[in-house]
Amino acid sequence: MNAPERWYLIEVLRGMGVSLRHLVRNIFHQDEMPTLQYPEEKRILPERFRGRHRLMKREDGTPRCTACFCCQTACPADCISIEAGEREDGGEKVAVRFDINILRCVFCGFCVEACPCDAIRMDTGKYELADDRREKLIYDIDFLLNR
Ligand code: SF4
Ligand code: SF4
Repeated sequence: MNAPERWYLIEVLRGMGVSLRHLVRNIFHQDEMPTLQYPEEKRILPERFRGRHRLMKREDGTPRCTACFCCQTACPADCISIEAGEREDGGEKVAVRFDINILRCVFCGFCVEACPCDAIRMDTGKYELADDRREKLIYDIDFLLNR
């Protein structure tokens, strides 16, 4: 075995030593491990964590959204789709369709920042959004208002 080959062997042994050291440490100090036993254990979310969206309601139960399209315009991922309608009392406009394609969403929060009515929030703390069909991941106004 020439000199370069001997060095290579030394480095392999040194790498194995590092792995062994971590293995022993993890066995005897499991409470200090940086990983979680997900999904049994859940991470504690920071206060301002941006989770799944929700739409806010007025006191009479109607959407607070006035269909101003600010959120749709601000969204960099083009995932919000709104249709405006008239309120029954003839006052402000109201969203009659409000869809968020969560598959496209990058959770930037621009929609929340852009809203002048505090009508959309990302404070649900929900982030486990996987589903078995793509259509289920386009959230409509009923879903966003009530769940
Ligand atoms: S969080 Fe960002 S990407 Fe998602 S809907 Fe809002 S603006 Fe669009
Ligand atoms: S910015 Fe607010 S009020 Fe305007 S359409 Fe979006 S959710 Fe509705």
